[in-house]
Amino acid sequence: MSDDKKINELLAQIQKLEQENAMLRRDFNSPTKGDTVRVPDGIKPLFDEAQKTVGEYFRNLKMDPTRGTIEINDQRYVLVRASALSNDFLNTIQHLYSDRGEKEALSIGKNFLFDIAHVIGMNDAKNFHQKMNLIDPIAKLSAGPVHFAYSGWAFVDILPESTPSPDDNYYLIYHHPFSFEADSWMRSGKKSSTPVCVMNSGYSSGWCEESFGIPLTAVEVTCKAKGDEHCTFIMSPPHKIQEHVNRFTSDSKYVNKKITYDIPTFFERKKVEEEMRNARKKAEESDKAKSEFLANMSHEIRTPMNAIIGYVDLMLQDKVSTEHREYLETLKDSGKLLLNLINDILDVSKIEAGQLVIENVPYSLGGLLNSKEEWAKAIALKSGQEVKIVKKYSDSIADEVYVDPSRLQQILNNLLSNAVKFTSKGTVEFGVILKDEVTLEFYVKDSGIGINEKDHTKIFEMFGQADASTTREHGGSGLGLTISKKLVELMGGKIWVESIKGKGSTFFFTLPYKPVSSAIVKKEKTEKVQEVIKDKLLLVEDNLINQRLTKLILEKAGYDVVTASNGQEAVDYYKASSDFKVIIMDIQMPVLDGLSATQIIRFHEAEQKLKRTPIIALTAHAMKGDKEKCLEAGCDNYLSKPIMLDVLVNAIKKYV
Ligand code: ADP
Repeated sequence: MSDDKKINELLAQIQKLEQENAMLRRDFNSPTKGDTVRVPDGIKPLFDEAQKTVGEYFRNLKMDPTRGTIEINDQRYVLVRASALSNDFLNTIQHLYSDRGEKEALSIGKNFLFDIAHVIGMNDAKNFHQKMNLIDPIAKLSAGPVHFAYSGWAFVDILPESTPSPDDNYYLIYHHPFSFEADSWMRSGKKSSTPVCVMNSGYSSGWCEESFGIPLTAVEVTCKAKGDEHCTFIMSPPHKIQEHVNRFTSDSKYVNKKITYDIPTFFERKKVEEEMRNARKKAEESDKAKSEFLANMSHEIRTPMNAIIGYVDLMLQDKVSTEHREYLETLKDSGKLLLNLINDILDVSKIEAGQLVIENVPYSLGGLLNSKEEWAKAIALKSGQEVKIVKKYSDSIADEVYVDPSRLQQILNNLLSNAVKFTSKGTVEFGVILKDEVTLEFYVKDSGIGINEKDHTKIFEMFGQADASTTREHGGSGLGLTISKKLVELMGGKIWVESIKGKGSTFFFTLPYKPVSSAIVKKEKTEKVQEVIKDKLLLVEDNLINQRLTKLILEKAGYDVVTASNGQEAVDYYKASSDFKVIIMDIQMPVLDGLSATQIIRFHEAEQKLKRTPIIALTAHAMKGDKEKCLEAGCDNYLSKPIMLDVLVNAIKKYV
């Protein structure tokens, strides 16, 4: 087509559109002749009033296609082709969801249209009521059908049996003689087997809901699109709708007619969503309460355990009879077992609450595996089983790697102790290989009882044990593998088992391989070679048993120890003599707590330009954030109770 021809065609089209605009403007700007709704006589005056107000409102319609705007009273409107929102829309949805069957596809589409229209109806009403200053519910409602007619949805014919009161008795029965939805079906020459005026139901019930301030829904019970005489609707509170529809369909007028209807699921879904939200909130609250309870309980148990294990440790250093040494060893073992259980429970609650922090520090993997070899040999010896321990370590792995050493040890401890526990005679081999450039693969292999294939997943679940009899024979809580799995995953790896019942098991887990460059290793090694010097320490602890125990431990290690029973005493001692090499600070204390005391000491140092004294925090708290809180307050290190003798002394050695 030539350019001239194209231009001429376009000009002709523009002219046509302008004519249409002029017509539209003329029609809207002249007052409407005739009623836009039909209502029972009793409420007619109100609707006449509404017709006047709304009619005036719509006379201000302005269309400006050069800007792509349609406005009424400075409010933007959009014109949408009616069948795009009815038969075209439903056909497309039916196509899209064809795999679900025609009925379900239609129901999805209809619910979608109802929801949109209901919300538009509510918001249109809210906006219109505000603009027109409408207060009274009936006045608010009366504007609805008129607005409905002006905006091209339908004409509304409210039947006399209606009782629109703002309560449970709200009941509206009405026809939409010119519903845009039924009309679009009829114009397309198609007949529907179910009512189609879904948006009409949604919009009207949304408008009335906003007007009366009560939830309302509407159902179309007869529809012209399926060949009925009228498009008839019933509107009521959602919990009453079925009752009204039943009454309608049992009317003798309809007995021989095929009545089909869909009750919109909008309110049902809203109710279910609400219930789900409440249930989730409740579950989250009880989960939080459970985690807090577990954390508090383990705190309470760890504090006295500190004293028990610490004193046993001290007694074992003295000269005691062989018999008493045996008793003390048993006492210490039982204490440690109990502590392990408490730590397991605390770990699970911390992991579940998302509070476990994984460290990433340079550490010698070879050294760690050596100490695990010794450890495994010791437990095998203790168990009295004939188990040989074999360690394999690949030379291609860097001397030092970034890991969380205590969590890695915890996983290996779990796997090794299980391997020994379930192997009465045979070999336990463990080691690590470089799987690829970025992955370490650890394994623990035993020639023990093995695990049935059906239990390979179950044993990693909370309290999951292969079978109850094994548990009775071997003991255990069923938490070890759960914690190991969660820890491995938190560190970016995965864990699995390969096992044949009766032949033995191999547990594998991977971790990201992050080698430390040799320059860093050297620096840290020189830092580590430092001598122990006997010096003066300030020990701040309010619990007198723990205070005496820790003092004894430190004195045995050769330190001069001054004790304070609360933060205030600590600050006083410190100000009187600031030559303490290290301060060991409990956190929870009366009068002045450890964090405040630390802050005062740091402030004093800055003010007096004094050298910084290292402060090691001691706390029975072990939840996430405690470490950060201590460091933020000015502490240099953090140890959680119960304190093992060597851990505390090693921590002090770093500063003196
Ligand atoms: P616990 O050993 O405390 O019961 P775990 O979570 O460590 O808890 O282990 C769960 C279960 O997995 C054990 O009870 C046992 O049935 C099975 N299991 C674990 N390791 C082995 C193994 N090396 N050989 C055989 N069975 C094992």
